[in-house]
Amino acid sequence: EPASQMVMTPFVFLALGHDQYRISRRVLIALGVLVLVGSAGIILLHYRQLYSIELLQIAGLQWLALALALPLFLYQVTKIQRLHQVVAKASERIKHIQAEAQRDVLLDCYSRRYVVAALEAQKQWADERGTSALCLAVLDLDHFKNINDRWGHLMGDEVLRRFSQLAQREVRSGDIFGRYGGEEFLLIFTQASLHGAYSTLQRIRLALENLVFENAPDLKVTVSIGVTVYQPGESLLELFSRADTAMYAAKQGGRNQVVAEQMQADRENGQALSRRRA
Ligand code: GH3
Ligand code: MG
Ligand code: MG
Repeated sequence: EPASQMVMTPFVFLALGHDQYRISRRVLIALGVLVLVGSAGIILLHYRQLYSIELLQIAGLQWLALALALPLFLYQVTKIQRLHQVVAKASERIKHIQAEAQRDVLLDCYSRRYVVAALEAQKQWADERGTSALCLAVLDLDHFKNINDRWGHLMGDEVLRRFSQLAQREVRSGDIFGRYGGEEFLLIFTQASLHGAYSTLQRIRLALENLVFENAPDLKVTVSIGVTVYQPGESLLELFSRADTAMYAAKQGGRNQVVAEQMQADRENGQALSRRRA
């Protein structure tokens, strides 16, 4: 019927446009040709039933409009398809770049950028829940310059890689270990008490102390570590600088040790208290 033909024509465009991202260009063109040939066939059959030249003229005009509009429409669809492919490729690439920015490729651990962002997120999480089950450790390899000077930079890189592997083996899956820069690392303990963090760090320190390098059996590497627990409401800078101060206390204390800031403060308070009692 002419009326239903008028309804069907826009539907053809909708149907062809609907799956435009999944249908290949060839299939789209084949479907377009099929629509044109099919509708021409229907018009002819119609004419053979009614022999109305007037109806044939109207239907012929409609077909002509369809035959002009459909190729133009398909051309636009293929252009959109190409644009869609470009956007898909670009977003894939952005995802890849983002993933790369999160990792330190040399050491196969998180990058500074990622760790700092993660620390911010963890701080927010702790603030929202009013918890202080968040610890931050600063780890700095001891006399690393000497290692480079004596064994060469390639060996220095190997030391960094082995340390990164070893540290990541010791931490829980929710904890975040990353390189802050050079031979300095950060370790975020999520959902951990200072005592829990402290014992993990002792394990890392001991594992590094006992690490044997096959191609440099005399090489001994140690690490100084400072750790502190988050005080609700403090800034990231305050948290970081307390962990850093604890790390420097470990260096001053003779290196190859873990200093827990709060525990040290408690110890100092305890000593002051017992002095006062005495
Ligand atoms: P300290 O015990 O006081 O920490 O002494 P240190 O020698 O470890 O500290 P310092 O900051 O003086 O030296 C760090 C050295 O780490 C200097 C730099 O050449 C080296 N370094 C930094 N990044 C890399 C790296 O990616 N690869 C290698 N091989 N060396 C690096
Ligand atoms: Mg160092
Ligand atoms: Mg350093």
